[in-house]
Amino acid sequence: MTEVLSPVTEEVVASVPAASMEETDAAIARAHEAFPAWKAMSPGDRGRLLRRFASIVDDHIEELARLEVRNSGHTIGNARWEAGNVRDVLAYYSAAPERLLGHQIPVPGGMNVTFHEPLGVVGVIVPWNFPMPIAGWGFAPALAAGNTVVLKPAEVTPLTAMRLAELALAAGIPEGVFTVLPGKGSVVGERFVTHPLVRKVCFTGSTEVGKRIMAGCADQVKRLTLELGGKSANIVFADADLEKAAAAAPSAAFDNAGQDCCARSRILVQRPVFDRFLELLETSVTAFRCTDPADSDAEMGPLISAAQRESVASYVDGADVAFRGSAPSGKGFWFPPTVLLAHDENDRHWREEIFGPVVSVLPFDDEAAAVELANDTEYGLSGSIWTSDLGRAIRVSRGVETGNLSVNSNSSVRYWTPFGGVKQSGLGRELGPDAVAAFTEVKNIFFSSE
Ligand code: NDP
Repeated sequence: MTEVLSPVTEEVVASVPAASMEETDAAIARAHEAFPAWKAMSPGDRGRLLRRFASIVDDHIEELARLEVRNSGHTIGNARWEAGNVRDVLAYYSAAPERLLGHQIPVPGGMNVTFHEPLGVVGVIVPWNFPMPIAGWGFAPALAAGNTVVLKPAEVTPLTAMRLAELALAAGIPEGVFTVLPGKGSVVGERFVTHPLVRKVCFTGSTEVGKRIMAGCADQVKRLTLELGGKSANIVFADADLEKAAAAAPSAAFDNAGQDCCARSRILVQRPVFDRFLELLETSVTAFRCTDPADSDAEMGPLISAAQRESVASYVDGADVAFRGSAPSGKGFWFPPTVLLAHDENDRHWREEIFGPVVSVLPFDDEAAAVELANDTEYGLSGSIWTSDLGRAIRVSRGVETGNLSVNSNSSVRYWTPFGGVKQSGLGRELGPDAVAAFTEVKNIFFSSE
C-alpha cells in the first residue's frame, strides 16, 4: 500500500494499493482481451460512450476538483479547470471515431485504400504535476482511435485518476477498456515498456526517465510519445506593454507552484527597460496570492512534497535573490514565489528545470541576442514574446526553437491545438486534431481489378 499525503496538511489522505508486476501483467492481459470488441465497435457507438463519459465527468467536476486539492494541493480554481479539461478532451475526441478517414489513392490496375487501425493496448504514464489533464490527453484520443488503455498515475497523486476509472465504468465503457493501475514507476511503468502486448507508451515526466523509456522501447520498436521537461523563455522587448507583461509573468512562472513543464522560468528583458520591468514585476510577485489552495482566490498552493521543496531550495541557496513573495509558514510544503537575478547564462538556476516557484531574470541587448539566449538550452517546450512590433513578433516567434509559443500572452494549452516539445522536451504531439491518428497505424491495401 502507498500512503498518499496532502501537501497542505502533510497528513495521510488515503492508502492506495501499489500494483505488483503480476498485477500489471494481468491488467495488460485484460486490456488485450477487451481490445478486439472495442476496436470492432461501430464508430458511432464508441463516440457515444465517450460522450457519456464526458457528461458523467461534467456531473463530478466539483468532486474531482476537491479531490485534487486534497491530493495535490492545487488551487481550487486550477483544479476545476483541470477536471473540466478532462471533460472537454473527452467530448472533443468523442467526435473522432466517425472522422478517422483514410485515403483512396489513384493507382493503375485496381484500387488503393488506406485505413487507420488502432494499435492495441496503450500504456499511459502520468506525472504528479497535472494528474487529470495529462491523463486525459493520453487516454481520450487513444480510446477514440479504438485502443484499450492501462494508465499509471504518479505514486503520490493517484486519487483523481482512480475516480476517473470508476466514472468510465459508470458511463458504460466496457471492463478492461480503460484501467487505472496505481503503483511504482519502476514496476508498473517499466512493465509498460517491456511488455510485448503494450504497443505504445505515452509518457510525461522528467527528461531523465523519458530517455530511459525511449531506450527501453527501442528493444521492441515500440511507439512512444514523450512530453518532458522545459526551461521556457519569457522575452520582454522594450517596445512591449510592460505593465501587461509584468502582470502576466507571475502566473507564467508560478502557476501550479511552478511545477509546470510550460513554466516560463527564464525572463529575458531588453536592457533599456530592465530596471523598470523589475519594479513592475516586484509589484505583481508580491501581490501573487500563495495561500490555502481551497480558498477561492488562491493563486498558488504548496509544492507536492518535502523532497521537491528541498530540491527547489537548493537552487535558491547562494543565488542572487531579487525579491520574493510570501507563503504560509508551518505545516505544508510551502515555498514563496522567488525571483533570482542571473549573472549570465551559465548560472545553474538559469539552465536547469527547477519545477518550483522560482524564476530567473537576465537582460539582453537586441533581437538576435534574445533569440540566441532563448535557444541556449537543451529544452524547447513553450515560451512567450512581449512586443508591440508585429514584424518582430513574426521574426522572433519563427526563430525560437520550441513546440509552443504565445505572443503577448501566457497561454500554453488549448485541447484543440497541438502540444509538445522540440529538442529534449519531447517527441510527438498531444492534443489537437492529429492526436487520434498518432494512436493508429496506417494500413495500405491494394485491390487488383485484373
Ligand atoms: P519522473 O519522471 O520520475 O515521474 C513521472 C512518472 O514516471 C511517474 O508516474 C513515475 O512513477 C513514472 N516513472 C518513474 N520511473 C519510471 C520508469 N523507470 N519507467 C516508467 N515510468 C517511470 O518524475 P519525478 O516525479 O521524479 O520528478 C522529478 C523531476 O522531473 C521534477 O522535479 C521535474 O523537474 C521533472 N518533471 C517534469 C514533468 C513534466 O511535465 N515535464 C512532470 C514531472 C516531473 P512514480 O509514481 O513511481 O514516481
